[in-house]
Amino acid sequence: MSRPLTFLAVHAHPDDEASSTGGVFRLYADQGIRTVLVTCTNGECGDGPGGVKPGHPDHDPEQVSRVRADELSRAAAVLGVERLVRLGYRDSGMVGWPQNDDPRSLRRAPVEQVAAQLVAVMLEERPQVVVTYNERGFYGHPDHIAAHRATMAAVAQIDDPPTVYFNAIPDSVMVVYRRRWAEEDRRRREAAGGTDAGGDDAADREDPEEEFDLGTPDHQIDATIDVRAVADAHFDALAAHSSQMHDSFWMRMGRERFREEMTTEWFVRATNPRALSGVVDDLFAGYR
Ligand SMILES: [Zn+2]
Repeated sequence: MSRPLTFLAVHAHPDDEASSTGGVFRLYADQGIRTVLVTCTNGECGDGPGGVKPGHPDHDPEQVSRVRADELSRAAAVLGVERLVRLGYRDSGMVGWPQNDDPRSLRRAPVEQVAAQLVAVMLEERPQVVVTYNERGFYGHPDHIAAHRATMAAVAQIDDPPTVYFNAIPDSVMVVYRRRWAEEDRRRREAAGGTDAGGDDAADREDPEEEFDLGTPDHQIDATIDVRAVADAHFDALAAHSSQMHDSFWMRMGRERFREEMTTEWFVRATNPRALSGVVDDLFAGYR
């Protein structure tokens, strides 16, 4: 008796499931594969209403957490997530933020404690495929790094371990994105009257990402998944996180261009119990 195919993604914040794995979640749900999402934090360090940033006196972390919990429920429904597990840690914020030191934060939680909860889910679900971030947390966010470490620690405790993939963007694609972000910034500055006004905000937001090499060398990509068939759900899941996404790259792109451009999700294989080789076009390669 083979186990039912099950997909598990471990993410740091509400919205990461949509931005990193929105395509594959819906794609595999549509194929009748069981899909499970673990979201480690409540995302308290996200924007408040009107784009109020954490640390601002009007930023209420509890309110942000409630809004994002609802948004996550909606996005998960759009993506066909069958089981959503919220670990309820506090968002640690970006590197160097005071929230890093909150004892309730994911960053401060012992890896074994987080991993034990993931092991429990893995033993119940027995996923063949697990997705999370690489050791850099994709872009260096402490919560993404913590999610990575806990996931890898959990997988190490499972016999008959799953195939683990890290989400990735090939360097060749990153070049195109960076060009577009630079162009958008330039246009925004022009629209703001040729001064810095309005530009500061965008620079602040993208600074932490600039410090990290977001892309992955193209030859290191192990899985290239065509997600065109689910573009609308993918877009809708991102849109469900409106408190964080209303001014995002994807929303500015609009649905039509999103359909044309967000055609693929890429992954690097981190464990390979099925001894796969070459680039696969299905994360369940080796299991069907
Ligand atoms: Zn995140």
